[in-house]
Amino acid sequence: MKLSDLNVGEEAVIVRVECNGDVRKRIMEMGFVKGKKVSVVKKAPLQDPIEYEIMGYDVSLRRSEAATIEVSQIKEQETKDTKGDKETKDINTKNINTKDINNTKVAKADTPEHLTNIRSSEHHDNQSNKSNNTITVAFIGNPNCGKTSLFNFICGLREHVGNYSGVTVNSKEASVQFQNYTIKITDLPGTYSMSSYSPEELYVRNYISDTHPDIIVNIIDGSNIERNLYLTTQLLDLNLDMVVALNMYDELQNSGSKFDYKAMGELLGAQFIPTIGKRGSGIAKLLQAVVNRYESTSTRAVNINYGELIEREIDTVSASIKGKNTTNFQDRYVALKLIEGDISLGDNFSDISVIDLVATSIKKIEREYGEQCETVIADVRYGFISGALKETYKPITNAKKLSKQIDAVVTNKILGFPIFLFVMWFMFYCTFTLGEYPTMLIEWLIGKITDLSIAYIPSGALQDFIIDGIIGGVGGVIVFLPNILLLFLFISFLEDSGYMSRAAFIMDKFMHRIGLHGKSFIPLIMGFGCNVPAIMATRIIEDKNNRILTMLILPFMSCSARLPVYLLIVTAFFPNNGSSVLFAVYIIGIIIAIVTSIIFKKVLFNKKDTPFVMELPPYRMPTAISILKHMWQKGSQYIQKMGGIILVAVVIVWTLSYYPKRENIEVKYQNEIENVISDYNLNITNGVSKKEALITKDSTLAVIETKIGFEHSKSSYLGRVGQFIEPVFKPLGFDWKISVGLLSGIAAKEIVVSTLGVLYNAEDGADGLEHSLGEKLRLERKENGEPVFNKAVAFSFLMFILIYFPCVAVIVAIQKEGGTKWALFSMVYTTALAWVISFVIYQIFG
Ligand code: GDP
Ligand code: MG
Repeated sequence: MKLSDLNVGEEAVIVRVECNGDVRKRIMEMGFVKGKKVSVVKKAPLQDPIEYEIMGYDVSLRRSEAATIEVSQIKEQETKDTKGDKETKDINTKNINTKDINNTKVAKADTPEHLTNIRSSEHHDNQSNKSNNTITVAFIGNPNCGKTSLFNFICGLREHVGNYSGVTVNSKEASVQFQNYTIKITDLPGTYSMSSYSPEELYVRNYISDTHPDIIVNIIDGSNIERNLYLTTQLLDLNLDMVVALNMYDELQNSGSKFDYKAMGELLGAQFIPTIGKRGSGIAKLLQAVVNRYESTSTRAVNINYGELIEREIDTVSASIKGKNTTNFQDRYVALKLIEGDISLGDNFSDISVIDLVATSIKKIEREYGEQCETVIADVRYGFISGALKETYKPITNAKKLSKQIDAVVTNKILGFPIFLFVMWFMFYCTFTLGEYPTMLIEWLIGKITDLSIAYIPSGALQDFIIDGIIGGVGGVIVFLPNILLLFLFISFLEDSGYMSRAAFIMDKFMHRIGLHGKSFIPLIMGFGCNVPAIMATRIIEDKNNRILTMLILPFMSCSARLPVYLLIVTAFFPNNGSSVLFAVYIIGIIIAIVTSIIFKKVLFNKKDTPFVMELPPYRMPTAISILKHMWQKGSQYIQKMGGIILVAVVIVWTLSYYPKRENIEVKYQNEIENVISDYNLNITNGVSKKEALITKDSTLAVIETKIGFEHSKSSYLGRVGQFIEPVFKPLGFDWKISVGLLSGIAAKEIVVSTLGVLYNAEDGADGLEHSLGEKLRLERKENGEPVFNKAVAFSFLMFILIYFPCVAVIVAIQKEGGTKWALFSMVYTTALAWVISFVIYQIFG
């Protein structure tokens, strides 16, 4: 029967994984290998995905993925343990005799064909540079094992975020002084294995091959040892010096489980140090172990013995690539990876004889075991682990009870969605209401700085530049900072506590329908606030394709900056059904996002549908420090990266609208102004009351002033550009002023309203009456007397604002997170789509 056929609460043993490719790799590295017991914890409120418990931890699979796993049900009467053990043993006996494990300590030396080999071989020879006082250390471990917590504790605030080799995956680096050494630590992204399935895995592997760290610190989640050790076995294959941090040691102890980590350390040839990342316990011992390992001259390393046949094939392949191995890995490792069918390393060998040899080896192994080679090797690894654990680990499975209770409510069939929606609403509410207070403070500060600039900088181009350009530009960015920090505070909390993966669990079915991942929902929702932090929030999506797809459709979520423009148009042209039109605009955005997503998924990202094999870590109360740190990391990136680009953009827009200078036009009106003043003097002499004369003077001057403003904006470079591009927008019903407004919206959508304000204010002041901007838009006439705006133009304009070029900050964010290619694509695609849709609307209804 299939795993997907099981009902909630039922338990079964895995017989076979039937899918292929990446999904298979992923499923196996998460522990779904032959002989493991698996039980159904619950189904998501929409019945898909399904949460399973395997090896004592929770993982969710989509129904379609679970349907590829063949299981056999455990019969009621049989006690669970014996059956499970028997199954495991059956598979293992072929290549590993679990009994041998506790003999290895004595038996190792004389029987190298046993479980572990002693390899006093070449080993990686960093011996020569050991006079050096810098030790480079790489932190490697599964997601959520507490790497970052440990890292932060060791390095304090001295870390900096490094972006390694242009991948969007981040790693952090920091140095710490310990004894006579400078220990340089890199916190690598969490990964479940060392294959090349995800960008993280590839990243970690490339990092190791490129930088050759002196010591690897493998961090293991003490509450989830079995699954975590899978990565450890792969690190052993690399044959590098390793120290293991047994993190979450508090949870291990509290659970009552017994783990003889010292014995395990001896078995694996790597010292185990218990740590508690949350409190920073065990750090000194860990660093000591790193130093000891570094200073130790022994080159004793332990390899997993993959069994006679596989070992022989490894040797054969290994011999054949000798001298041709251009990778930084040892021949044995490369040979093993080739036999495992790892494509990314295979690229290094175009030699046909090697390819043939590998193919023959794979065939031999598959014939012998009747399984795919990859599976055989994964089975051996897990077999090795369960054998080793049998000797050293007495688990108590009743742990994580509190977490289970919380989960019963939070992902409940009925309560799941309301709770999720409430959390989303609460996050928004706090982000935008609580954010207002610090925003007000910042605005006040900006006001003060402006006043000071007016007072101390002589008026003229420099003052204008500083006030409108620099302060306006930087200020425009900084005012978003409180919102962004708050948003990231929430996200960090949701991520670190474990709720984020539940949210994805609940939403996955729906999101999958439109080609996305459960986790895509969160950034999309955030997009209604501001697209920039939302783009940054796509980092929670592990799979790169999904992340980019989410970024591409995100701009269709109407951000709050677009709202003022909507309101202006809606109140002016749809006074009777304003709210429905406004609602329609938001809904149309969502529909466009959904349709785009489905199409893009088919056209651009068809190659890979990533599996939803997602760990549901137990709920943990995150520490305030770690959350604040996360928040700050993201927030400061926002200031640095966005600030720079927005500043440049605003300066450009300002310069284009400022030059050629206004004075040139003022000169033209000099006579008129002088006339007004002499008229005023004449009125006074003629006995008109001073008050009345003053009113006449001021209003006439105001008219001239607006005329100057209008001519200036028309003759400015920005205005000229507007007139130049007007033909492009004519088919959409837009005149040059609207075109300029749209152009200015590239910097930020809020600017559209103020730009229109400048352009229209100038002309319509002529009748001397006060009009709101909306009325002015309505009164605007073409040369032939027809109104510029009608309902069709207004709606066409609304659609254009919704769809076109998101804004510079968003494009920059996409560029940083997804690469230049996608940033350009997003720019062109959104604008083209906006044009087409507005064109259709105007041509049909106009
Ligand atoms: P990473 O994904 O490996 O970087 O893991 P994090 O450092 O972000 O930690 C994930 C969660 O586990 C956070 O909520 C931490 O506060 C928590 N955590 C980290 N180390 C420990 C530990 O030793 N014990 C306990 N109980 N919780 C921990
Ligand atoms: Mg981390």
